[in-house]
Amino acid sequence: MPAFLTDPDPQALAQLCSKLVKINSINPPGNETRLAEYCARYLEDLALEVSVINHGQNRSSLLARLPGKGNKPGVLFSAHLDTVPPGLTAWEHDPLSGLIADGNVYGRGAADMKGGMAVILYTVSALKAGLEGDIYIALTAGEETDSLGAKVVADRLADVPLQGIIIPEPTHNQVVIAEKGALWLELTTFGKTAHGSTPGVGVNAIEHMRLLLNEWDALPFTLPAHPLLGEFTRSLNTIQGGVKTNVVPDQCTISIDMRTLPGQDHAEIFRQVEALIEKLSGSVDQFKATVVVSNDRPPVMTDPQHPFVVRFNQAAETATGTRPAPRGMFAFTDGSILAPRLKLPLVVCGPGQPNIAHQPDEYVEISQLTESAKILLQALTGLLSA
Ligand SMILES: [Zn+2]
Repeated sequence: MPAFLTDPDPQALAQLCSKLVKINSINPPGNETRLAEYCARYLEDLALEVSVINHGQNRSSLLARLPGKGNKPGVLFSAHLDTVPPGLTAWEHDPLSGLIADGNVYGRGAADMKGGMAVILYTVSALKAGLEGDIYIALTAGEETDSLGAKVVADRLADVPLQGIIIPEPTHNQVVIAEKGALWLELTTFGKTAHGSTPGVGVNAIEHMRLLLNEWDALPFTLPAHPLLGEFTRSLNTIQGGVKTNVVPDQCTISIDMRTLPGQDHAEIFRQVEALIEKLSGSVDQFKATVVVSNDRPPVMTDPQHPFVVRFNQAAETATGTRPAPRGMFAFTDGSILAPRLKLPLVVCGPGQPNIAHQPDEYVEISQLTESAKILLQALTGLLSA
């Protein structure tokens, strides 16, 4: 077995991760172009075919291909270029420092997911020899908001023969094969302003929203808990309405974040909400409301017995000595765009603690980067050898 399969270089991985953290790609606004171009040069130096996809406004994604012999369908690696903002809490280390200390790399995106991206880049550098199939690498813009890049990548790869998708988001190198879906709704009620001393003259949009929410609570969306994903959840997370204490409000808007399970149909949920608005419009005087979808990602579930998952698990066991148990995650990834559109199995497995993502003083352990590189090198060798 070549040395790199058992022995990735921790310092090289840490330096690469640190370099990626130092390149600001905080979203909003994203500005992923500089990071995409850095990765493009890195991959071109390894003789990959690279195309930088320009989305405009300093936003870019990258799609690269390491050609194999064409005897097997390829494997798609995907990572996102953008990070969430550092937030208002003070950090001990500058969020863009990429500081390497105490066995960790620190900074915004170190875990989510420049660590995983560093592992992808390192892995292909160790795998230049011709495999039986192609490796595709998608580095995407906008995963933290609208998956701008993943949508374009899915279009470009529509006719490419592939075995499956690997996304090294931070799972502490656990193997995740299921993600909850996300359906975000924005509901607005409309009324008519009046002086607060004569409410009967106006139509109170907040009171109408209250009626709607009372009925909303009774809508029967719930399914039995899923073995990997737990319960369906719905959370009322923003509310705006009214301008002044002495003015009857003419508008009230709420947003609701629903996290769905395999078997739940988002279109059906939307129809139920529309039917509720219709019912209230027919029974409450001057009731008027609208509903808009602001995010719609289906749940993703890969069969644990799918050969892609079985081979990945064998690789993880070889690399770590432990057989992975199938797991699910509550948050969505670009996999919610790529897996359904490309009709491919999805494995999410990457370095870093999932709960450190989006937090102050984010970091990734260098030992996690090394373990991830071992797993991914084993997985690619297993999936793409004769
Ligand atoms: Zn992420």
